[in-house]
Amino acid sequence: MAEKMLPIKEAQEILLDRIDPLPVVEVPLWQAVGLPAARPVTTDIDLSPFANSAMDGYAVRTADLAAASPEAPVALDVVGHEAAGHVFEGQVGAGEAVRIMTGAPVPEGADAVVKYEVVTVTGGDGNEGSQASFTAPAKPGENIREAGLEARAGGVVIEEGEVLTPAGCGLAASAGATAVPVHRAPRIGIISLGTELVAPGERPGRGQIRDSNSSALMAAAAAAGAEPEFYGIAPDDRDAIEAVIRRAASSCDMVVTSGGASAGDYDYVTALVAREGEVLFDRIAMKPGKAITFGIFDGTPFLGLSGNPAAAVVGFELLARPAIRKMRGHRADARPRQVARLTHDVRKRGSRRLFNRARVERDPRSGVLEVTEMRSQNSALLSTMQRANCLLEIAEDAAGPVAGEMVDVVRIDIEEGTEL
Ligand code: AMP
Ligand code: MG
Repeated sequence: MAEKMLPIKEAQEILLDRIDPLPVVEVPLWQAVGLPAARPVTTDIDLSPFANSAMDGYAVRTADLAAASPEAPVALDVVGHEAAGHVFEGQVGAGEAVRIMTGAPVPEGADAVVKYEVVTVTGGDGNEGSQASFTAPAKPGENIREAGLEARAGGVVIEEGEVLTPAGCGLAASAGATAVPVHRAPRIGIISLGTELVAPGERPGRGQIRDSNSSALMAAAAAAGAEPEFYGIAPDDRDAIEAVIRRAASSCDMVVTSGGASAGDYDYVTALVAREGEVLFDRIAMKPGKAITFGIFDGTPFLGLSGNPAAAVVGFELLARPAIRKMRGHRADARPRQVARLTHDVRKRGSRRLFNRARVERDPRSGVLEVTEMRSQNSALLSTMQRANCLLEIAEDAAGPVAGEMVDVVRIDIEEGTEL
């Protein structure tokens, strides 16, 4: 069994080394939003497939309008019209124009579109049989969107690893995709350990507390892109703990427990994982949440977090979330960081890396980014975690920074890969 307190960076490396992207599945286009494409998406046609009008107006030959002016307008014969799905099959000849709607294919012979608003129609409704009068020349290509502007047939429209936005889901549809290949969502089994725990719907008796960790960790799992599944509360009983972990491990891609992680008499988790597989670390030089076990339980990655609610959330953020994102094929694995001016002194004792809950905000008057810790770093408190937008990170060997110093914060409210 591992004994030493690992730096978090090493712990993250050890853990991610045991995690692989999950098998590829096809999901409906809109469900790929926020996910990296597991394979490139290519288009089978030019996008768009034909040159089309950017405006409602008239498709013209610019040569016809070369001399047009307000004093000497040029009238063209309207010989056809193009509406959505209705294509004019003829040629636009000298002295002719075709009424055209936005997105309709530019007819043969025409080399510009003049918008409807600046054209005067005489002798009819503006369609075939009317005349259209122009008071200015047009430039070749004006108001025409070229064929293949977005992509050429056979070309890649979404790169492998590229995260799809809503626009990207639409682009894949234009390219003829009916589904997007993504790495499937990991099933994360969540277990709460502790004889003192009762379900949120129950009123705790003396010495009991409500199980808040399962809700927080399931939410964190879902937010990271996983499918969480709750396997219940197990009391501090060796057999009960083993049974529930075994049940979760048999059908999940990773099991995450909270509680039962400290060195108390009733903490069996690490010993159990060691017996049924391998423990890769069981102490991290960090605060909150040093008592974190990672190992492989009967072939399934297992993460045992400390029961203290804020410590469990921070531990999940630093270890489970990167694992989930790797399983989903994400390449960006670090939350954005900012450098901000500390508004107060920070106490630091000991040699553990601190992840203090804090809020970073731009001072509206000075425009300076400032960071202030939440009023308490007590790891039993969830309200300060709820309202924090960053973790103020202070390295293992660093001293506590003082007011006015520029410090490094991790934005836990902003997705990995976001440029700030
Ligand atoms: P442990 O890791 O079991 O030593 O638990 C540390 C602290 O976290 C204790 O005060 C527990 O009561 C508390 N705790 C453990 N599990 C949960 C949970 N699921 N929800 C809320 N608090 C918990
Ligand atoms: Mg306990």
